[in-house]
Parts: sequence; C-alpha cells; structure tokens
Amino acid sequence: MLTLDQVKAKSSKRLIGLHPVVLAAAAALIERCYVRGVNIIITQGLRTIAEQDALYAQGRTNPGNIVTNAKGGSSYHNFGLAVDFALLLPDGRSVSWDMNRDYNSNNVKDWIEVVDEAKKLGLEWGGDWTSFKDYPHFQMTFGLTLKQLRAGKQPTKAQTAAAYAVIDKLQGEGEEEMTTSEKEAFEALKETVASQAKQIAALEGKSNMAVIPVWALPACEAAKAAGLLDTTANGSYDFYRMVTILHRVGAFKK
Ligand SMILES: [Zn+2]
Repeated sequence: MLTLDQVKAKSSKRLIGLHPVVLAAAAALIERCYVRGVNIIITQGLRTIAEQDALYAQGRTNPGNIVTNAKGGSSYHNFGLAVDFALLLPDGRSVSWDMNRDYNSNNVKDWIEVVDEAKKLGLEWGGDWTSFKDYPHFQMTFGLTLKQLRAGKQPTKAQTAAAYAVIDKLQGEGEEEMTTSEKEAFEALKETVASQAKQIAALEGKSNMAVIPVWALPACEAAKAAGLLDTTANGSYDFYRMVTILHRVGAFKK
C-alpha cells in the first residue's frame, strides 16, 4: 500500500510552474482522492508555449506523428492553469486511463470520484465540454480567455483569494469531521480532564504559584478556551505541568 507521500512524490515534478492556486488545488486533489482510496498522478501540468510549439511542429515541420492540433498559447496548460491526471496503480509505477475502474470497490467509478473531488475544489473538468471532451483534463480559468492570457492578463487578487477560500474550506472540513463514537470518546475525555484538573488543583493547594509560568500559558489559555477550567491562576507546579501535557496531547482542542 502506497503512502500519501509516495503518491504525492509521483506528481511533484508535474506541479512545478503551475499557478499557485492550481497547484494548491492539484495537491489537495491528490490528498482527497488518496483518502477515498483512489490514487492519482498528475501527468501534465505547465506546458510552456515553446514546448507546445515544438509539439505542434512534430509531424508537420519536424519528423514524427502529429500529436496535437494546438499551437503554443492555445491551451490553459501553457499558462499553468491546467493539469491532466491518470489513475496510479498499486505498484506505484503503472498508470491507467480506465474510466470504469473501481479499485476501492465502492460502486463509484474511481475516475468519477476524482472528477467529483476536483469540481468541489473549483476545477473545471474537460469531460464536461460539449465539442471536444478531454477526460483527464482539469483547469481553472478565472473567466479569462486564452486571448486575454496571451496578452498577459492575470487573475485578480480577489479571484485567487476566492479560489483559495474554496480549497481551504474543503480541506478544513475534512479535519473537523468526527464519527459519533469519536465524539463520545472525546466528550468523555474532556470530562475526565476537567475532574482531574479540579482534583489536582485541590491537592496542590498548599504549594500554589503566584504567577502562571510562561511555559504553561498557552496550555492554560487553551484549557480556558475549551471551557474546561474557569481559572488557571494560583495553580501548583504539577498542575501547570499536567495542563501543559494535556494540551500537548490535544485534549483541549475544540
Ligand atoms: Zn489537459
């Protein structure tokens, strides 16, 4: 089984030169698909206009077969705004463009799962186009035409900020998700922490400290913010030590 880092490493070279927002979306896409049990690889990212022209020349003015009808500047790839993907097979080397594959056996085609995640991240899918369908292709155009891009026009700060917000919101949601049993366990842990903190405070009453040690301040703030302790003043050394340890293990996360 491949780790997320291994899967990500497969695409790292192809992410170079992408517009930062498209890069963020592509990286998030790899992660989100991985979590669903679908591994993908970015097979194409930025293709410079010179590279595109060389490709166009192939089979025309240069030897070889014709592989594209697009001259340089006529693809969103040329501006770092598009990526192509393929499914990465379990051996970590082979790739597949099989749109019917369902490797994670959830009765949803893996290809469609990738498309769903990509759309949620704000990417446009080439499979939705009516004239020419480009199934492995995603892009983010910010409403800019290729003509505008060729003239040097860039997405506005507001547009990129909005695109980042969509990605961040989606990524944030994933982290907050807890199952019911996890929530129950977490509530039980909070109660234990609260009662232990009270006990410790009572036991250590004699040797209370006049000032909260600086190293314990973040933990004390977190405990108060989590509603577990009304006050963290006048605690003992051991009390502050305990609160700090609990904070480190994440007990005060809301
Ligand atoms: Zn493409």
